[in-house]
Amino acid sequence: MRIDLHTHSTASDGTLSPAALMTAASDAGLDVVALTDHDTVAGWAPASAAVPAGLTLLPGIEISARWPDTAGVNGGGIGVHLLAYLPDPEHPALAAELARLRAGRTDRGARMVALLRAAGIDVTWDEVRADADGGSVGRPHLARALVRHGLVATMDEAFAPEWLGGRFQLPKDEPAALDAVALVRDAGGVPVLAHALAHLRGRTVPPSAIGEMAAAGLAGLEADHPSHDRPARARLRAIADTYGLFVTGASDFHGDNKTVRLAAELTAPEALERIVALGTGAAPVTGGTR
Ligand code: AMP
Ligand code: FE
Ligand code: FE
Ligand code: ZN
Repeated sequence: MRIDLHTHSTASDGTLSPAALMTAASDAGLDVVALTDHDTVAGWAPASAAVPAGLTLLPGIEISARWPDTAGVNGGGIGVHLLAYLPDPEHPALAAELARLRAGRTDRGARMVALLRAAGIDVTWDEVRADADGGSVGRPHLARALVRHGLVATMDEAFAPEWLGGRFQLPKDEPAALDAVALVRDAGGVPVLAHALAHLRGRTVPPSAIGEMAAAGLAGLEADHPSHDRPARARLRAIADTYGLFVTGASDFHGDNKTVRLAAELTAPEALERIVALGTGAAPVTGGTR
């Protein structure tokens, strides 16, 4: 069984449509793929309608959250990404929180464009918004504009500190991680902490924070992720053992916005079984059965 539990489509900051992503997952030899767009379930319906025979879609979300860090110099906390598998997309509090996050992303995108323009950089909100095409707006949409305008050569360069990784980056207004874990559980979903030790993205949470999240209902840790080196993967497996969590592996595929390919990292069938047993808000969609 080849299982990839973290991918993005054009419903957020990936470059393949949800339907094209299902075909690509099948072509990559996957048996199971999770669609986990940032703060939205908008891709679920078009993906479900396009699952080829032999592939199973696990519907999910990647929720932007924050570990409040009172000791931090700017009190900003540590960004954490929470994967939520099989939540009820119509759970009122979850739907409201996702809508709030997407509205915040749109507003922040416009403000980041204004910052760039104030520095004399000629990208427009119209072009960025058009590129996002109604999906969750993120820094990758601004990064693509910088690349299009020839201001940077690569997406990586666009995320450097001089650009969207610092100077022109604005914070998002995100839920506290413990609240997000509880919300996902309440919606019948299975919360899994994404790329918890991806230190190149910024500060990461201490093991004690993962312990608190586990007590609040966190079910798993994404250990095998492209931005985790071997020691980080081993540390996460040890933390998972300590708190009784399962571990997953996933590519975090974003189409052409990143270099990683589908199925570059995989999840063991036992972890998928636990997710399917725990998730009560939605059901996997297997192709060729309708
Ligand atoms: P945001 O949620 O708007 O702050 O944007 C963060 C997103 O940017 C993440 O979900 C990543 O997919 C993407 N990202 C971060 N670093 C890079 C990079 N070096 N190249 C391409 N995409 C990146
Ligand atoms: Fe992303
Ligand atoms: Fe993420
Ligand atoms: Zn992701």
